[in-house]
Amino acid sequence: MKKPLVMVTGAAGFVGSHLAERLLNEGFSVVGVDNLCTGRMRNLKSFENHPDFEFVKADPSDGLPDEYSKRNWSWVFHFASPASPPKYFGMPIETLQINSEGTRHLLELCRKTGAKFFFASTSEVYGDPLVHPQPESYWGNVNPIGVRSIYDEAKRYGEAITYAYHRTHGVDVRVIRIFNTYGPRMDPEDGRVVTNLMFQALRNQPLTIYGDGTQTRSFQYVSDLIEGIVRLMGVDHSEPVNLGNPSEFTILEFANKVRSLIPTRSDTVYRPLPSDDPKQRKPEISLAKRILGWEPVVDLERGLALTLEYFKTNED
Ligand code: UDP
Repeated sequence: MKKPLVMVTGAAGFVGSHLAERLLNEGFSVVGVDNLCTGRMRNLKSFENHPDFEFVKADPSDGLPDEYSKRNWSWVFHFASPASPPKYFGMPIETLQINSEGTRHLLELCRKTGAKFFFASTSEVYGDPLVHPQPESYWGNVNPIGVRSIYDEAKRYGEAITYAYHRTHGVDVRVIRIFNTYGPRMDPEDGRVVTNLMFQALRNQPLTIYGDGTQTRSFQYVSDLIEGIVRLMGVDHSEPVNLGNPSEFTILEFANKVRSLIPTRSDTVYRPLPSDDPKQRKPEISLAKRILGWEPVVDLERGLALTLEYFKTNED
């Protein structure tokens, strides 16, 4: 029997590659699309020769080949986008485009073919939140012209057009808001706190803390995220769902976790806080618990140890 066909945009990225691999294991035929602006071919290594995997180097912002309308897609997963602040600061227009025009082209494909659409949104839609922890019902506190707006507003637009297609054309949609996620296949150069501090510790370089380090984040291991995504495919729920780990740490506490995992001679250095950097972030996950029977199972110590193991064997 023919396997159901899915598209994963951003398949060579950190999250997209884990998703593509899991979907292959779940018995789907996967077309991975990526323009490699931040994705890396090495992320596909463990499944690129899988008989049901096909990789296409393309940018959905430019539109999609006509022949895609004739294929029998069951799902389109839109995970392509620069996602770490330094990366999207460096690609502002591209980030806006992939989440606006890119999302529109993929939704059009879903409208024409009857595929379900799965949009990777983000906790950044809550901006610098005034409500803590953040439930899905919170509308957010985003600076529309701030430096982060190229990502925050792009994802907010991505959600808006997703629901416009849902209401206007009846496209079946799923939307997740992904909170800080880490694990194997992250780009060591992506400039996030997890990769920066781990590699600084490994190289005995100073650990860089932006601001005074009292801002908080809640870190989710990637396999927990992927489990939540797969469960959401199986339920009829079109409203946004937070997926994140509610264990919250200040950045200084996080740095101490890194130090206890990686013995290092590194000092700590303080750098200016980037503008509009959210002061606190923690997901309210009662919705995911209720409708998916889901909650994270990998704690930060274990997740960081698994990530370290990967970095030691896969990155120089
Ligand atoms: N951060 C830091 N040192 C670094 C990189 C980031 O202190 O080397 C801080 C950053 O200012 C933010 C938090 O760590 O407050 C998480 O940053 P990241 O870039 O990982 O993701 P964000 O949650 O801001 O999208």
